[in-house]
Amino acid sequence: MTDIGVPHRSSSTLTRVERLGAHSHVRGLGLDDGLEARRSSQGLVGQLRARKAAGVIANMIKDGTIAGRGVLIAGAPGTGKTAIARGMAKTLGDETPFASMAASEIYSMEMSKTEALTQAFRQAIGVRIKEETEIIEGEVVEIEIDRPVGAMAKAHAKTGKLTMKTTDMETVYDLGTKMIEAISKAKVNAGDVISIDKASGRVTKLGRSFSKSRDYDAMGASTKFVACPEGELQKRQEVVHTVSLHEIDVINSRAQGYLALFAGDTGEIRAEVREQIDNRVSEWKEEGKAEIIPGVLFIDEVHMLDIECFSFLNRALENELAPILVVATNRGITKIRGTDYRSPHGIPVDLLERLLIIHTQPYDERESKAILEIRCEEEDVDMSDDAKDLLCKIACETSLRYAIQLISAASLRASKRKSAKVDIDDVSKVYGMFLDVKRSTQFMIDNQAEFVFNEAAMVN
Ligand code: ATP
Repeated sequence: MTDIGVPHRSSSTLTRVERLGAHSHVRGLGLDDGLEARRSSQGLVGQLRARKAAGVIANMIKDGTIAGRGVLIAGAPGTGKTAIARGMAKTLGDETPFASMAASEIYSMEMSKTEALTQAFRQAIGVRIKEETEIIEGEVVEIEIDRPVGAMAKAHAKTGKLTMKTTDMETVYDLGTKMIEAISKAKVNAGDVISIDKASGRVTKLGRSFSKSRDYDAMGASTKFVACPEGELQKRQEVVHTVSLHEIDVINSRAQGYLALFAGDTGEIRAEVREQIDNRVSEWKEEGKAEIIPGVLFIDEVHMLDIECFSFLNRALENELAPILVVATNRGITKIRGTDYRSPHGIPVDLLERLLIIHTQPYDERESKAILEIRCEEEDVDMSDDAKDLLCKIACETSLRYAIQLISAASLRASKRKSAKVDIDDVSKVYGMFLDVKRSTQFMIDNQAEFVFNEAAMVN
């Protein structure tokens, strides 16, 4: 590998589509400018403290002030832990890598558990690469002039050609004599920044100079030129695209690198490949060509990881390039997988101590109803008020998730009887058709003699 390949694209699409249906209504954390959670906003309802805490962390990630930290979202099933993590991802936007997985996935992969976790970590680390690109005909050209333009314009007025230097090549660009004339007529002074509409030749002064050291990105995505001492123009356009370290790993580790990315069949990646990539990326960083963006790795059902994985996480968080680790669990005090020891959430205490812990609380009736209403809207289901009341009652007596699932079933029943509106009878019918956990358990207890290998005494 003489040089390393980088996938090209304009923005990162690291967020995997996961349980998209269940959380498709979540569009952010629903916080105001002071980071206070609104009662119901951006698809999220209640859980004010947890949402605010998630917002504070998202802000720190955006500011780039934290990396290598861990957050645990703990709470009973269906209390919105995954929904909040999803809200965080939305708040962070596409430019911050957000990788998400269920802990149990690592057992189904054809690679070691630690390799699977390493890949997940590297998916959550973005590399923002800056590249200079070709000018495109017909776009608006912005030019920073650092000496009187008259001399420069005269020099080129005959041919209308400007010579531009990029970092690795010199190109002659035909601005056309009209445009060169327009520049000189506009009486542009040294230090002025102008833009030229190539179609009309109209010159607009954008303001006074920006220094050469200034970040050109701040000026927007248009092409900018700086007159260099020889009177030539130097191209300054930079295209920025963000890719993950994992994607760079993959395309450099196999002949069919790109295909492996699409198929998700990446296999194990050799340590030497990663080492080379890390070295090259830090060189780019030093040269100002790349920026490291620590993103978020979300691991749901974290109690499913075992002791080896937990010790890997402990170590990985100390790495200079570590992303923010957000884990979620609904377990109380339970066994740490792979050991005989019990601990809170099934997570070893040494890892727990590193984590900032956010708790989610059970919902009250009003909040459950608001969430159910949002889901009805999301699923495009028109439901009568008394049907909604019944659904809310079901959510309080069974679980919110069960009630959410009944929405589409009830809607199907309504459409079967050719009604555009779900009524109380539809909800009641599907409630009878599909059991919730409590009724299903009761059914088994009542009919234990009919079941094979029944151990009803263990269920209570
Ligand atoms: P588990 O522990 O079982 O994984 P969880 O805490 O991750 O549960 P979610 O999957 O986030 O729970 O929530 C269950 C359903 O309720 C999802 O469809 C989710 O989007 C929705 N939901 C939960 N809390 C909220 C909320 N505060 N606002 C809006 N929707 C919510």
